[in-house]
Amino acid sequence: MSFIKSSINRIKYSVIFFLLNGYIFPLPNIVLTNCNIIDGNGGPIQKGMYVVIRDDRIYKISKGPFLIEDENEPKIIDLNGSFILPGLWNNHTHLSDLLPDINNILGTENSIQASIRAGRNAMDALKSGFTSLRSTGSRDYLDVYWGKAFEQGVFIGPTIYSAGNPIAAEDGHGIDDYAWPATIPVTNGKEMAEAVKKHIDMGVKWIKIMADELTKEQIKIAVKIAHENNVKVVAHAAEKGAYRAVKIGVDCIEHGYDLSDKTLKLMAKNGTYYDPTIVCNLSSEYIKERERKITDVGIHSNKTIIDGRVLVAFADERSSKVAKRQRRILLRANELGVKITPGGDSNPLDEIGLLEIEQLAFSGLDEMQTLMAATKISAEMNGVLNDVGTIESGKIADIIVLKDNPLEHISNIRKLEMVIKNGSIVDLSIPESQKSFWELYFKKKEDVE
Ligand SMILES: [Zn+2]
Repeated sequence: MSFIKSSINRIKYSVIFFLLNGYIFPLPNIVLTNCNIIDGNGGPIQKGMYVVIRDDRIYKISKGPFLIEDENEPKIIDLNGSFILPGLWNNHTHLSDLLPDINNILGTENSIQASIRAGRNAMDALKSGFTSLRSTGSRDYLDVYWGKAFEQGVFIGPTIYSAGNPIAAEDGHGIDDYAWPATIPVTNGKEMAEAVKKHIDMGVKWIKIMADELTKEQIKIAVKIAHENNVKVVAHAAEKGAYRAVKIGVDCIEHGYDLSDKTLKLMAKNGTYYDPTIVCNLSSEYIKERERKITDVGIHSNKTIIDGRVLVAFADERSSKVAKRQRRILLRANELGVKITPGGDSNPLDEIGLLEIEQLAFSGLDEMQTLMAATKISAEMNGVLNDVGTIESGKIADIIVLKDNPLEHISNIRKLEMVIKNGSIVDLSIPESQKSFWELYFKKKEDVE
């Protein structure tokens, strides 16, 4: 009898102990100590802080040394004065796209081959600090499926805000421009409605339209159906189609070639975001300026990457005039209060994504604003600022750790020490025999074999 009693008591006490520990005094999983926080809200750096992460969330942020008051030891990581930021975003991505495609891969591969590259590309991006990607067009819903695979933990990758296939007019951008089996044509409002509904059924978060050649009616239908279903609309547009698209109510303009003051003012008024893909609009002078600035902080990339990043960030026209005009438009947009987010457009998503963030600063935005664009503003644009985008307690722990201060030089975003995705530390190591994205897809076949 007494044995049973004491057993019951033991169970009772262990339940109480469990409750105290687990709920009333929750145990931290990871504690990052001795760090400086750039929280994404634009305030001054918070120095000498510690951050407690429990499960997938930021549990506590506090000043001073962390004291262990509990025998159940958390995983404590001394960051030695490194910088904590929210995870980065790349808002204009094509997971399986290749530009240039020197081996004509896109024109000959099937969906499975494209999918393998898409997954690798996204996982590489996470290892460079991109905890979230917005897809602005992908064949065969690869973006949707990879997004789900990462969400379910099949692989460790970024969160993907997918768009499925871009939708264009029959003569629109992406239809006949090059071998890109992604963009689908519509000829009337009915077809637009069907395409948008199918995308929504497949689980996209965005509808991507090529706005310049679509009719007012077609854009209206896309925006109406998307918004009714809590899905946003992103428009590839130059001045020709941008004003109309903004007026109808698209959520974001991509590229924005030649945007006028009239359009920019309407964007500022309506809260339409601008993703300038500025890295695709550089002249040789700007490229020289960029390369010099990157090496300023001791970053020396290998030759394949330096050559590659000139090639892959495609420009419609690599002229000084176009580059200057697009830079002027970016700065004017900023001056007028248009919300700007970074999107690299080209691949690989990691390198070109970093380059786009750097290029916002090199083009004249200040570092704090650039970092906010790549974190908080991006999360806001994607409608998930309640959960991610800043370092605040209660938010999902999507965090990067940088060795040096990115407010002193934006290229310090390349000095990555740690990535935390959904509260777990990401393995940043690269297996020795694994080939780089550059070697795999941007080298002439005969050079590789
Ligand atoms: Zn694009």
